[in-house]
Amino acid sequence: MGMMAENYSSLAKPTVLIVEDEAPLLTLLRYNLEKQGFRVDEAADGQEALLRVAEARPDVMLLDWMLPSLSGIEVCRQLRRRAETRDLPIIMVTARTEDQDAVRALDIGADDYIAKPFAMEHVIARIRALLRRSGRVASKGTLTYAEIAMDQDAHRVTRDGRPLHLGPTEYRLLEFFLQHPGRVFAREQLLDAVWGRDIHVEPRTVDVHIRRLRKAINQDHEVDLIRTVRSAGYALDSDPNRLG
Ligand code: CA
Repeated sequence: MGMMAENYSSLAKPTVLIVEDEAPLLTLLRYNLEKQGFRVDEAADGQEALLRVAEARPDVMLLDWMLPSLSGIEVCRQLRRRAETRDLPIIMVTARTEDQDAVRALDIGADDYIAKPFAMEHVIARIRALLRRSGRVASKGTLTYAEIAMDQDAHRVTRDGRPLHLGPTEYRLLEFFLQHPGRVFAREQLLDAVWGRDIHVEPRTVDVHIRRLRKAINQDHEVDLIRTVRSAGYALDSDPNRLG
């Protein structure tokens, strides 16, 4: 099963704190997470985990249940008691597969759990999903606005779940709008952002592509998501009454 790298920019690399006392497993996790673009910090027991949380400020914690000095359950409980770590995303790792343990992990405040032995791609998928849910890391894979969703990896765009067919320029225009929803851009700004500064294109070309984009995304009976601001430019905006 292939894993798709999500290309986090180097600044936005999420930090995963791995708390694991089995050295070979820790090494394996570190290797795979780094390969997938995560920054990795580690701790080998419960006490160290609490120290590392304070120092490394991880975005997500992969917390083994059975640990020396302080169990994963106890670590989780302590973190949940403190205001500054109450919302730290925690995935509990358990060697035990009884449902009761999972329930207990969630009861004491873990956000998710995964049972050993696990497949590496499952761990990575869970970490990504939790990062997205917690809003710690914006998904680099999908841009959304109103009913529009753009899957940047697959180059697929949908409105209300229905696929939209966009030419390459319309795609890039929409991508740019999705990155700055609600903002009004002059034609020249759109030219710079979408076509590039070095290419000479008539500003009116923008109008042509905006028209195509509009046609592609505004299907019957739907709100026109592209707002034309007279003498100013265009914006992606679901509120037709907003003033430019
Ligand atoms: Ca262990």
